[in-house]
Amino acid sequence: MLSGARPRFQDGVFLYVSDRGLSRWVLSRRGYAAITLGHVVVAGRTPGPELLRHEGHHVHQYERLGLAFLPLYLLLYRRHGYARHPLELHAAERLPLFAGADAQSAQPHR
Ligand SMILES: [Zn+2]
Repeated sequence: MLSGARPRFQDGVFLYVSDRGLSRWVLSRRGYAAITLGHVVVAGRTPGPELLRHEGHHVHQYERLGLAFLPLYLLLYRRHGYARHPLELHAAERLPLFAGADAQSAQPHR
């Protein structure tokens, strides 16, 4: 499906690593190293710990925002571009969003 890459489950996400086919096309269009949709991370090559950490923040954003994540991401992208994108700044740990969310999400849900 995604270029024949076999996903592996790592750090709570499904990680697809592929530099071919659909994966390569999607990533190269934007020059991204990786894209996160929900709990699925698609990367052009095996991501290092820094990139995985970054994408992990996007996973948490998705958990907070649910289906609003993608339209909100695109809306903010149009307004701010990539470098000043609030969700990217948050993923780069340069902007605190969801105050207290990290502490809360570490506790079991009721
Ligand atoms: Zn990002």
